[in-house]
This record gives sequence, C-alpha cells and structure tokens, in this order.
Amino acid sequence: MLSIPQNSPYPAQLRASLAALRRRIAAAAEAAGRNIDTITLLAVSKGHPVEALAVAHSLGLADFGENYLDEALPKIAALAGSSPPLRWHFIGRIQANKTRDIAAHFDWAHGVDRLRIAERLAAQRTAAQPPLNVCVQVNVAAEASKAGLPPDEVADFVAELLPLPRLRVRGLMCMLPYGASVTEQAAGFGAMRQLLERLNRGGAGLDTLSMGMSNDLEAAIEQGATLVRVGTALFGAR
Ligand SMILES: *Cc1c(COP(=O)(O)O)cnc(C)c1O
Repeated sequence: MLSIPQNSPYPAQLRASLAALRRRIAAAAEAAGRNIDTITLLAVSKGHPVEALAVAHSLGLADFGENYLDEALPKIAALAGSSPPLRWHFIGRIQANKTRDIAAHFDWAHGVDRLRIAERLAAQRTAAQPPLNVCVQVNVAAEASKAGLPPDEVADFVAELLPLPRLRVRGLMCMLPYGASVTEQAAGFGAMRQLLERLNRGGAGLDTLSMGMSNDLEAAIEQGATLVRVGTALFGAR
C-alpha cells in the first residue's frame, strides 16, 4: 500500500484522462453494438512512477501492464496488500532468464510466442498459485522486426500450450505498426478475431483478444478486443 502525497498532480490529471478514455471505449463499444462490460481496460504503466499507479488504482483500475521486469518488481512490492488487489500483466518481450520472476509475480503474460518460454513459465509457476493466464502473441501484420508468431503457426502452437500445467491459455495478443491506417487496423484486428474464432471452433476455449492501444483502440473494439492496453492516453507521454 502506498499513500498519495497531498500535492500530487496525479489525481486531477488521471481523473480527467480516465473519464475521456472511458468515453472513447464506451463510444466504440456502442458503435460496435457491444456490451462495455466485455472490455477490460489494462492500464499500461511502464515509465510512470508507482504514485501514478496508486492513484489509478484508487480511481477503480485493477489491471496494470508492465514491459520491464526490473521496473515492475518494485512497483508490485510497493502496491502489495492494496485492496482490491491489483492484477499484474507482463506485456513485454519475455526473456528466458526472466521467466521465474514473471511466473512468481504476475497474473498474466501476454507476449508468449516460444514453446521454451511457455514450458519454463509452466514449470516455475507454483502449485500454490492460480494458473498463469497467457496470451499468444501474433505478428499479424507480418513485420520483420516484430515479436509474435505468423498467423498460420498459431493453431499448432496453441495445441502445444494447452496441455502444459499451471498455465491457462486465454487468447491472442497483437500490436499493429504505429502508423497503420484505419483500413490496415481493421484488417489486422479483423484477422485476429477470425483466428480466435477458428481456434475456438476447434475447441480451444479462448476468451481473450488483447489488442488496441492509445491510438487504435476504437478499431480493436470494433473487431472484438476484450482487453485494451492503454498507456499514453491514460498516464500521458513517457
Ligand atoms: C507500451 C505498450 C502499450 C501501450 O501503448 P500506448 O500507445 O502508450 O497506449 C500497449 N501494449 C504494449 C505491448 C506496449 O508495449
């Protein structure tokens, strides 16, 4: 738990940005004919101080996303014991030497795209903990430099993950290239939706599409995002 200093700028700032963000999400859900309760806002807090997270939590946010383990662990420790508890999502690239701490301290891992990493997470998650929720990262726009599996390899990969103990395969995650046009956003997020539907027709039982960020969350919600990962539009520039 953490007390928020009297002169903190964050309460006023975050109250305003969160209200604006909730309006955007509500408008996108309404336009898509979707129930807003099916969309979780994941607050991406990388690069922002723990005080900002404490304020966001006090305003009702429960899900927080971090990319870098060394930055995340002190925040997780500082906010331990908060009520209601925070849910921590690791959304960065997962290196093999970080899996033990990710398995120990996070509730979700979004960037899973290699079997060796998934096997380590499964082996290192303890039986005393609930299963670690995982999303398979898809390189849906086929960017050479980007993490994630090509779409045509995802089904076989999910089939390899499903039997692993102590992991719960929840769904798919992607990031589109920053300057993607509205047409490219619809195509990329639409391909994710179709991939999830195809996997579920095969019995995968997935319930999560982790997609949409500050600049493209409307297109993601239109295509069925259940979890939008928003940093800048909430906390400001990093
Ligand atoms: C940083 C990051 C985000 C948030 O991006 P914003 O544009 O600041 O909203 C979402 N997802 C991932 C994987 C990120 O690394």
